Amino acid sequence: MNPSALPPVTAFPGTIVQARIDSAAITDNARAIAARIAPATLLSVVKADAYGHGLATAVHACRAAGVVDFGVATVPEALQLVALLGDDPDLRAERILCWLYDAAADLSGCARAGVELGVSTAGALDQVVRAAQTAGRAVRIHLKVDTGLGRNGFTPPDLTAFLPELARTAERAPGAVEVVGLMTHFANADAVGDPATDEQLAVLDTARSALVRTLEATGGALGDPAALLVHAANSPAALSLDPVPGDLARVGLSTYGLSPFAGTTAAELGLRPAMRLVSRVLAVKEVPAGHGASYGLTYRCAAPTRFALVAGGYADGIPRAASNRAEVAIGGVRYPVVGKIAMDQMILDLGPGGDGAAPVAAGDEVVIIGDGVTGPSAEEWAAWSDTVNYEIVTRIGARVARVVCDES
Ligand SMILES: *Cc1c(COP(=O)(O)O)cnc(C)c1O
Repeated sequence: MNPSALPPVTAFPGTIVQARIDSAAITDNARAIAARIAPATLLSVVKADAYGHGLATAVHACRAAGVVDFGVATVPEALQLVALLGDDPDLRAERILCWLYDAAADLSGCARAGVELGVSTAGALDQVVRAAQTAGRAVRIHLKVDTGLGRNGFTPPDLTAFLPELARTAERAPGAVEVVGLMTHFANADAVGDPATDEQLAVLDTARSALVRTLEATGGALGDPAALLVHAANSPAALSLDPVPGDLARVGLSTYGLSPFAGTTAAELGLRPAMRLVSRVLAVKEVPAGHGASYGLTYRCAAPTRFALVAGGYADGIPRAASNRAEVAIGGVRYPVVGKIAMDQMILDLGPGGDGAAPVAAGDEVVIIGDGVTGPSAEEWAAWSDTVNYEIVTRIGARVARVVCDES
């Protein structure tokens, strides 16, 4: 058979581990964020399959909140989004912005579809110009400045050297590019009050003045300086700075109901986690004192107890680093994950059965990731595995079924 015709494994019946996506939560979160950042406009970041929540689900939910601007990292993500929007006449994104590609990238598909591109180097501008010429239409670009993060973008001296080159594009390739935006990305916006954020904004403002002068000097041939969109804010900046700087805020994480701040819950921010990762108990058994659990026997029960076997392991995106630290919930009661989390399954110590013990049986639903009340939050999982909630949701594996349930 043709391997490319093989459907994803979740297309077959019997998937136990499910990521239930509450699309109404995404809509409500997007509305709340849009209200907070006004008059800046919300650009919803839907890279990495909408942070593991499913691109189509997230885009529909954001559109329901009035969002018309979307951002992705890679070219394939942009083209996937184009395909999604093109298939649905109700979905007409005004803006798809893509900012991560290499020198080998063919940008003509993006150019043809009207995808806007971040430009971080002189070479990238040449690539965009070639793509515009191939597509026979102007490409709207956002210059990216590195104001301190050290990732993509022109450093201030690089920008000074680049702007005359940009100006020459007006004669070299008239009508190929239109500069519509100037963007940067914060390094430490989740540390509220860190002076690094203000320093980055000051560098951005200097870059803006220089770019506006270049746009004015070229008489608008490269774009209208008065219409230039400046954008910097990500989730932590959009939820902490007052006012939110710039014309747009590029918000991913918090749209999905997750807190960007250590020590602040989503609920405290007025957000609702949109993903609930659930599984089921496969078996419950009684074991004697000293019985080991999972590879390496890193856990042995001190007294006779009950072990529950639960479907879900690191192939599903559950971090092995959280072994012997994590908890999950059954019927609202938390139980410890004992021993090493394996590829496909994990073990819980339910404690001894008998009087007063909660009855747990094969088939019971297990909440692996919840909202902190229904089950442990993504933030708790992040703490148990020395990472951030961003990684917890984006690492959910391809084997996990995404099930959309509008819980409102
Ligand atoms: C991922 C990303 C964002 C979104 O950041 P969140 O903290 O998830 O809101 C914004 N801008 C850029 C450049 C990004 O790569």
